[in-house]
Amino acid sequence: MPGSVERALGVHRVLEPRGVLPQAALRLDADPALGADEVRIAVERLNLDAASFRQLSEAHAGDGAAVRAAVLGIVATRGKMQNPVTGSGGMLIGVVDAVGPESPLGLAVGQRVATLVSLTLTPLRLTDGLARWDGRSEQVPAQGTAILFARSIAAVLPDDLPDAVSLAVLDVCGAPAATARVVERAGARTVVVLGAAGKSGCLSLAAARAAGATHLTGLVRDDAEASALRAAGLADRVVVADATDPLAVAAAVGTPADVTVVCVDVPGAEHGAVLATADGGTVVFFSMATSFSAAALGAEGMAADVTMLVGNGYTPGHAALALDLYRRNRGVRSLVDPRVHP
Ligand code: NAP
Repeated sequence: MPGSVERALGVHRVLEPRGVLPQAALRLDADPALGADEVRIAVERLNLDAASFRQLSEAHAGDGAAVRAAVLGIVATRGKMQNPVTGSGGMLIGVVDAVGPESPLGLAVGQRVATLVSLTLTPLRLTDGLARWDGRSEQVPAQGTAILFARSIAAVLPDDLPDAVSLAVLDVCGAPAATARVVERAGARTVVVLGAAGKSGCLSLAAARAAGATHLTGLVRDDAEASALRAAGLADRVVVADATDPLAVAAAVGTPADVTVVCVDVPGAEHGAVLATADGGTVVFFSMATSFSAAALGAEGMAADVTMLVGNGYTPGHAALALDLYRRNRGVRSLVDPRVHP
């Protein structure tokens, strides 16, 4: 029988291999029967993490039916939605369906919530075969059940925003929070965001500005994204380069910045990010496609004295901060909204 810390972390739901935490598990027990300290959510919609969705789409050449079958297969096999290639998941929204008498989460039956813990550790059972999803968008209408543990976190959904927007913003809410914290602590003035026209990218720009940064550079993939980012007015300078081409990134960025935030959803941005960062500066790797070895060995190989942070998906207050940035910034809304499929 696991102790209280193990239970709070969900170790009792791990089927294979025994003894690891749910995030590292191959398989979870997604039985909807509730433990005394657990909460059951009636699932309405999943938000697949961008890196995971891109990988699945590319692996199946954009065939939506095949992507849907792949997601169903992963959830049926693993009892959770964790892409075995990217290792990443996403999050979900739904209605609180049952609350165990010993749950400390303070949730009540009937509340509409977004889980702020990753799908990679959330026991999940799907019951509708994802029949309402065409396999072509990150957001997945779904029916089924998910389980929250005593140490999980969930946010009650705001009633002034469409669910699809809340889901998209909350999925990446760790990025603006991490950016704000680093900018504030370092007193950083110059910030570069790679993938700046994406959801986490534009929120990170807005967060950096609010935290006191004065020279913001947004690096984007092509001219269409550059026009959209310029129109959004979130960056002082917009540059176009392939984030996976280190020399192109360095040339486009010019003078390295105090802080670089990596918000692309593709692998291979580590070296460009290091080159874009001044000695003594900080790189925040929010992207799930980041390679630890490429970042660490790359920085060593360039004799770059930079601090490198893994963008933790959790920072206290991260959900409220991100939703607030979305509400207050027309520019953020102009970039996030077209990516949201209601
Ligand atoms: P998003 O909205 O799809 O934004 C990604 C942006 O990067 C897009 O604008 C994309 O352009 C751009 N991009 C892709 N390849 C590029 C390249 N080679 N050069 C320049 N730009 C490029 O994604 P998101 O939802 O913000 O997620 C971004 C990353 O955060 C993903 O890797 C995701 O997995 C990760 N994430 C991390 C956490 C965490 O807790 N650390 C939580 C959630 C998500 P196109 O649209 O033109 O492709």
